[in-house]
Amino acid sequence: MVGTNETQTELLRGFDDENIATWPLERWSIPTDYSKRYRSDLEAASNLRVLLHANATHLQMDSSGTTLRHVKAACSPGKVFQINAKNTVIACGALENTRLLLASRDILTEGIGNKHDLVGRYYQSHCFGVCGYAVLKDPFKDFIYDFEKDQAGVYCRRRFWLTPEAQKKHQVSNVVGFFVRAVSGESEHRNAMVSLVLLVKTLLGGAKKGPKRLFQIVRAQRRELLTHLGIVLKDGPSIFHQVAAVVYTRYFRKRRLPMVLPSKKANFFPLFFQTEHAPLRESRVMLDDSSVDDFGMPRLEVNIRFSEVDYRTIRTFVSLFKQRIEESGIGTFHLSEKDKEYLAHPERRPFNSNAHHIGTTRMAVTADAGVVDVNCKVHDVENLYVAGSSVFPTSSHANPTLMIIALALRLADHLKSKD
Ligand SMILES: Cc1cc2nc3c(=O)[nH]c(=O)nc-3n(C[C@H](O)[C@H](O)[C@H](O)COP(=O)(O)OP(=O)(O)OC[C@H]3O[C@@H](n4cnc5c(N)ncnc54)[C@H](O)[C@@H]3O)c2cc1C
Repeated sequence: MVGTNETQTELLRGFDDENIATWPLERWSIPTDYSKRYRSDLEAASNLRVLLHANATHLQMDSSGTTLRHVKAACSPGKVFQINAKNTVIACGALENTRLLLASRDILTEGIGNKHDLVGRYYQSHCFGVCGYAVLKDPFKDFIYDFEKDQAGVYCRRRFWLTPEAQKKHQVSNVVGFFVRAVSGESEHRNAMVSLVLLVKTLLGGAKKGPKRLFQIVRAQRRELLTHLGIVLKDGPSIFHQVAAVVYTRYFRKRRLPMVLPSKKANFFPLFFQTEHAPLRESRVMLDDSSVDDFGMPRLEVNIRFSEVDYRTIRTFVSLFKQRIEESGIGTFHLSEKDKEYLAHPERRPFNSNAHHIGTTRMAVTADAGVVDVNCKVHDVENLYVAGSSVFPTSSHANPTLMIIALALRLADHLKSKD
């Protein structure tokens, strides 16, 4: 590792134990502009044709319901065409894969691959949020807080990870945590950069909704906003330094800083957690027949559900974290009244995620347990395949894309071997 003490592999020296480990690294790839990076490869490929602005609207089965005849598509409503292929792979993301399968119901009235009412079920994402904050005995000693870089310049981060042994022992799911900037809007962090970000976000957000709404927001939050303004004015010089560094590393470098961390000076480290979401049959997306899009396709109704194991995972993680940081003598951990209320009733916090959608066409050996088989082929349909995290039976705590790519490569090999 560059720029850090090479002998230290723990996020906080002396923290790791049998329950929580911080030695694994999360790595940030360079953002890839797909069209720039691959355009010439795609154009050069003689066996490939890319159709842009083409929306698949219907999967047309033959009358037996076992073979896909063609895909109906449209560039704009009314401009319809069809694509005929020996084998078809749908890779529209976990929500749109589901919609396409369920909405193609002229031959199979329950939708394609849905004989056992599984398409759209076991919908998973992650439970995540901020709960509690740490205060360290000495935030400037043996604490790898900033992002690290490896020899190739890749940004890396250490997280607090609940070990597989602890997951098994406590009968909970996978979960990681890390320190984040305060997202709550509370000014107790006393960090100028965070206060500035919150002020700008609040005021711009309000202004976008019009002067009346802005006035309401300022009136309702005036005490908190004034406190933030005070912090910004008082610590002005330190903000200038941080803003310059952030602008440079976020926008002018090839490898960009993944996110802005407040300075250690505040000695206020809110704990963010993100958990695996246990698969649950009742957690599902389905068609909302009361609402169609411009192509005449029904929109989706999303009904995400969590269960006791998800909530137990959060409670266990927070409690083991508190226990470890305090017994190691590294610092103290504090829960606000809001945090305590959340831990007592996590089901009351509204869920909001747009990032990882998983499990809606889960893989299983038999058709009564999953939508696709081990080759990602829709059970009972001989030439239709699914790519993407919709085929994952479980969600883990994060980052589905490498596994999506691994499965896509495996599927490509399978299709080549089928020819
Ligand atoms: C904010 C954010 C942060 C994320 N961070 C990470 C991360 O750090 N690490 C990680 O591993 N993953 C991350 N993800 C998740 C990652 O983006 C997804 O796992 C990945 O993009 C899924 O790839 P996919 O090809 O299956 O689906 P998508 O990338 O969603 O691609 C599906 C494509 O199909 C198109 N499409 C949809 N419906 C149709 C249709 N009917 N006809 C034709 N085309 C259609 C869509 O326009 C889209 O281009 C993040 C996601 C978000 C939103």
